Amino acid sequence: MAFNLTRRKFLQSASLAAVALPLSKAIASESGVTRSPFEAKGSSGDKTVTGGICEMCFWRCQLVGKTRNDRLVKLEGNPKSIDNGTSLCARGNAGIKLLYDPDRLKYPLKNVGKRGAPKWKRISWDEALDECGKKLNMIKDKYGPQGISVFPHGSTAKYPMHFFERTVGTPNISEASFFQCRGIRDTAYLATIGIPPGEKVDMPNAKVIFLLGGHFGENVHVSHIKSYMKGLQNGAKLIVVDPRYSASAAKSDIWVKIKPGTDTAFLLSIMQYLIEKGKYAVDFIDEYGDGFEEFAEGIKGWTLDKAAKECDIPAKQIKEVADMLADNAPNVSIHPGRHVSWYGNDFQRQRSLACLTGILGAFYVKGGWVPAKGPKVGKISWKHKEHEEEHNLNVNSDDELYHPYTPPGTPTELIRDAALTGKPYPIKGCVIWGQNPIQTIPDQEKMKQVLKQMDFVMCVDVMPTDVTMWADILLPEVSYLERYDLIKTGTQWDFSEKHQQYISARMPIVPPLFERKDQVYITNEIARRMGYQEDIPVKTIEELVEKNLKVAGLSIEQLKKEDGIHIREGKDPYTMPEDFEIIFYNEDIEDSGFPGIPTYIPVEQPPEGFARLLYGRVPVHTFNRSQNNVWLNAAMPTNPVWLNDALAKKMGLKDGDEVGFINQDGIKSRTTTTVKTTPGIRKDCVYMGHGYGSANPLMSVGVGAGVDDTSLITKITIDPETGCNGMRNNFIKFTKDGKTIDIPTAV
Ligand code: SF4
Repeated sequence: MAFNLTRRKFLQSASLAAVALPLSKAIASESGVTRSPFEAKGSSGDKTVTGGICEMCFWRCQLVGKTRNDRLVKLEGNPKSIDNGTSLCARGNAGIKLLYDPDRLKYPLKNVGKRGAPKWKRISWDEALDECGKKLNMIKDKYGPQGISVFPHGSTAKYPMHFFERTVGTPNISEASFFQCRGIRDTAYLATIGIPPGEKVDMPNAKVIFLLGGHFGENVHVSHIKSYMKGLQNGAKLIVVDPRYSASAAKSDIWVKIKPGTDTAFLLSIMQYLIEKGKYAVDFIDEYGDGFEEFAEGIKGWTLDKAAKECDIPAKQIKEVADMLADNAPNVSIHPGRHVSWYGNDFQRQRSLACLTGILGAFYVKGGWVPAKGPKVGKISWKHKEHEEEHNLNVNSDDELYHPYTPPGTPTELIRDAALTGKPYPIKGCVIWGQNPIQTIPDQEKMKQVLKQMDFVMCVDVMPTDVTMWADILLPEVSYLERYDLIKTGTQWDFSEKHQQYISARMPIVPPLFERKDQVYITNEIARRMGYQEDIPVKTIEELVEKNLKVAGLSIEQLKKEDGIHIREGKDPYTMPEDFEIIFYNEDIEDSGFPGIPTYIPVEQPPEGFARLLYGRVPVHTFNRSQNNVWLNAAMPTNPVWLNDALAKKMGLKDGDEVGFINQDGIKSRTTTTVKTTPGIRKDCVYMGHGYGSANPLMSVGVGAGVDDTSLITKITIDPETGCNGMRNNFIKFTKDGKTIDIPTAV
């Protein structure tokens, strides 16, 4: 077994691997690939252009571009950055391959074939925008503004999202980052401490870092990884709770190989043990706790033995975790997680994490949860107009909310169900902006039916994706290297050293090629054609950025003079706000019909012959968005499936065998991938990287690479408090050479 690397050696190798290895491997593999005439050659430019902000993922690292004759030849971290510094991850470095990807969308396209099987015809911007304005107006006039649905993602989608929501008046906006990712975390913490938690943990100063399902090293965000690595190098103990021996588990002091879906039972038993033994932050809770007695009474039954049985882990390991946390409290980083839409019982788990942080007194202290804030800038956008009715799909006939703790927007399933049934009203228009709902939202067949019944579908994106095949009109957007964009603010990544804040705004590194346009141009032109010209807040994206910077006393010109980043003194982030409280027992939640005390809700177990499908990030890709990138594809072209080695032996499978899958609903994977046998995964689950297996033939590099995990996620367990999609209650068997192979553990 490969778990015998020393801790020090692993720390060194892992930090290098996260940032450097994939790129060097990718560069080596690139030789012989004939691509665009705009391929970058060499690594040094004549000119350095500052003010760039990466968008290969949402983390937005600050960068500079080296250009030669107006061609970008290299990207580097901005040396002035107090966030990511001079580091970019493999994806950040490979942004140049997105910029010059020959498969990128170049011109407006009209689908003269069928949705899902398109035939594209190049049209002019005027024709495309006329069609969008006309069709969206027809839908609005016939069905009301609520008949238009919007699936946005990313920084460019904010401006159009606000237009459709505030000005046109549809509530039917569903962001994947909320309803399939972090929305549950935000609303659960809001219901517990009144603030969405972000990923704001002071890991550099922590004595213990506690990760529940988090897998740093596979999940790479530069300043966050730096903060994590510094914490470990400073001697922090690491506790990782994961059914799989992840990159983080491999560095841990305690790896809790928990049974999937039982995390809340585990957390409740830790808290019950700490309360019973008096090993909790009594004074802190006296001052800031609300409903603690009811909470302590309510979780009394969660003994170590009971949780051990439920979670399939030793009771003494739960005690070991609890003691390690208590012995090092309050300097413990209980990480709130990011993608937390797992089993449909997730709001309760996220509340439990917030309560555990409270019990340890780990809010606003060194090494704990510390919401360091960046400076204020403007937020100019579309103003809210008066709309006659709200048309909220989340409200039932008695005027009660189905999901009272939903994140902003409308739960995806409520939109899809309304679209498919026409009740309570039809949804016939669909604006998809930077999102790929075929591969972010589970039950692909349902999404396809939703798109089929629309009167009009428009997509705006940088690259072709699986959902762009379903567009009637497909518009090419400029990439993050070719446009001005939203302002990024924040604090020094290790804010305990100096309390510094920064302001930066995304600025173009190179001018746009072909006929690509930015979000303000596209939205404004559609707005004009829909009769909203009087409401347009800004004429250009530069004007938007200028107005937002002005609130902070800055301008684009000034930022350029300061190498793209303005730095100023910040505030002490450890100061506790006066009105801070931790609501252990929340009466409002109970009044809404849900448990007011964090409660464990068991999940369905794999049927005979199946294992649970788990999925997650890989270090060199951002879901499906980077699958066509030639460097990143070379670094990790497929997503091998992790299978317990003892099971593999019984199943007659070995490393590298090519396999497909069939799920509990009889849905087969379209493509195959290889087997990775390992002792580092439980026998009741398998694991694969998310975002692979694209179906769009216009992605000449990424099409058919690996297996699309989302295609196997057909059962959705809705988290009742939030309406978010729980996606880890799907079970699969393997297929090989036309035969189905049962997974023996459940037999
Ligand atoms: S973490 Fe990597 S991909 Fe994400 S913004 Fe930073 S450099 Fe770009």
